[in-house]
Amino acid sequence: EKCVVAVDGPSGSGKSTVSRRLASALDGVYLDTGAMYRAVTWAVLQAGVDLTDPDAITKIALETELSIGTDPLAPHFAANGTNVDAPIRGPEVTGAVSAVAAVPAVRKQLVALQQAIIAGHPRIVVEGRDIASVVAPTADLKVYLTASAAARAARRSAEDASDVAATEASLARRDKLDSSRAVDPLRVASDAIEVDTTGMGIDEVVAYLLKLLNS
Ligand code: C5P
Repeated sequence: EKCVVAVDGPSGSGKSTVSRRLASALDGVYLDTGAMYRAVTWAVLQAGVDLTDPDAITKIALETELSIGTDPLAPHFAANGTNVDAPIRGPEVTGAVSAVAAVPAVRKQLVALQQAIIAGHPRIVVEGRDIASVVAPTADLKVYLTASAAARAARRSAEDASDVAATEASLARRDKLDSSRAVDPLRVASDAIEVDTTGMGIDEVVAYLLKLLNS
């Protein structure tokens, strides 16, 4: 039977780890929509187009051939035949992704692709910002993960060995850019269950979501 789980929340909320673990527990696949915006951003930077020119960004987005991995244990991404797993996590892409994701035509293209991938898999956990509200409004479970700004920064810097204070500032900047656009992807869907993961371990969050799914 079909099972779609939408996991939204800001960066550092534990979304990725929780979504991957939940997908494995369900014997399903995992879709990282943030990585899709990041892969398009990588191609935009590679092409050297002006980040304030939405038409130029849209043109690159439409021309970019994406390979989107959905294995929860190894979700590899490629753009135009080049593996981009490392560069899409780098500072250049992280600094530019909000601008690229703000272009309506880019969102339209990627949302359609996300919906096609969801349709093609019986069990899928989809993580992002607008999954419950836009991409998969009929999902079987919609969760919104949050955590304190300090906890989010601490988790992110533990992952990439960056400075906690600098990471907290960078996350705050991205939250602000992400939430000030016309279609606010950080808006919590009205029927999403909000889970504050600040004091929770991964196992605890995954167990709670499995319980919600089975109730
Ligand atoms: O989740 P992650 O931090 O990798 O997302 C990178 C960026 O992609 C976000 O800051 C946001 O600008 C954008 N994004 C989005 N909609 C999604 C997923 C990500 O706009 N569904």
